[in-house]
Amino acid sequence: MKITAPPITDAHWRGFTPMADFDPIIAREGEGCWLTTTDGRRIFDGVSSLWCNVHGHRHPKIDAAVRDQLDRVAHVTTLGMSCETTEELAIRLAEITPGDLGHTFFSSDGSSAVEAALKMAFQYWQQCPSPQPQKTQFLALGSAYHGDTTGAVSLGGIKYFHQLFAPILFSPVRGPVPCTYRVPDKVDPLTHYAGQIETLLSHHHDQLAAVVIEPLVQGAAGMITHPAGLLAAVREMCDRYNVLMITDEVAVGFGRTGRLFASEHESVTPDIMCMGKGLTGGYLPMAATIARPHVFDAFLAPATDSKQFFHGHTFGGNPLAAAAALASIDLFNETNLVESVEAKGDYLRQRIGTLSGHSNVGDIRGRGLMVGIEIVADRETKASPDPSHQVGRKVCQAAMERGVWIRPLSDVIVAMPPLVATNEELDILADAIIESIDQTLEDTFS
Ligand code: PMP
Repeated sequence: MKITAPPITDAHWRGFTPMADFDPIIAREGEGCWLTTTDGRRIFDGVSSLWCNVHGHRHPKIDAAVRDQLDRVAHVTTLGMSCETTEELAIRLAEITPGDLGHTFFSSDGSSAVEAALKMAFQYWQQCPSPQPQKTQFLALGSAYHGDTTGAVSLGGIKYFHQLFAPILFSPVRGPVPCTYRVPDKVDPLTHYAGQIETLLSHHHDQLAAVVIEPLVQGAAGMITHPAGLLAAVREMCDRYNVLMITDEVAVGFGRTGRLFASEHESVTPDIMCMGKGLTGGYLPMAATIARPHVFDAFLAPATDSKQFFHGHTFGGNPLAAAAALASIDLFNETNLVESVEAKGDYLRQRIGTLSGHSNVGDIRGRGLMVGIEIVADRETKASPDPSHQVGRKVCQAAMERGVWIRPLSDVIVAMPPLVATNEELDILADAIIESIDQTLEDTFS
């Protein structure tokens, strides 16, 4: 029997957090882009509570939708039955996603949405009209991040997060890091990276079930921005080599890049698309994997044929989350929020652009309201700072002292504010970023 409870900080084991060495900050309330902590501080949520709270906290319409659903039913599983709210959401997702994507499988987090996509693609090739059972592999980009479950980690290409787990993972065919900041000399980035992907496809297409790609910007990899045209080029190659295309819109979806879905920038319809984070406006844990008819149809057969998708989650399609998602989608439809994102992102990047003269600021990049500032030891060589400097972490600590919450991805400082942030709020964010970077770089490099 436990005699004493652990202290509050240790009772909660947090992810990606050095538990021996951190200063917990506990929120009590949120409103709009702001959080109030238990010690009375007011903090700007510059990470949208991990990139998902697109309409800010406590939006009256989403609050009301969830309360209304609570008065009806909180949970009905989708295995064997379903709730009318969940059904309505599936129809709505078919309407708002690109092309003929139309068949949604629900789960509770982005990693599980990716996991479902992998199993869906694998099972598709086992039982589609022209089965190719040897198609069991996946192509993932360099520095890919698709979540923390075992299949998603297998796709992962970030050494620091993923290498440790190698003994329990499968190996994907590994593509390039299509980064526009570190491009080899004298090459056209699009031709270069698309060429590398094409070479891999030409060698491995017989074994490949799908290519998995985060469209336009690889968020968790450090806001790696792809050359324009890469997504469309991958779509064309997947068609040519008869490989499914899975896009992971978990981070970039729901307005983040200035379109409802990032794939829209290049008029791409993937075969399978994963969504999470902003799906419920960042309110409740829900994610989705949506497929096109040719994928879905391969699973249609009499019960005796055992072709149903062998996958399912207890809480997938939860009605409270579905109600939040419907309200969030209504907000996108009723406002010009998505249309405002590119201008807001440009404004934020232009404000922090004053840092670009700094000898240790290598790159300021991103798309829409995804912003990354890469700190380097040397601008010429683009070499990263010594990890012992902990530059990213120190910048974010300095920002928190100024009442702004941002997070580092190694040496890249990341800002992903709620899409509803006003220019005045973006000024507060920009000022905190500029001052914190100035202060940290001065302390570290001079
Ligand atoms: N895919 C991408 C592109 C992500 O950025 C993330 C989370 N940051 C995930 C998948 C995993 O989502 P979750 O944390 O909800 O499992």
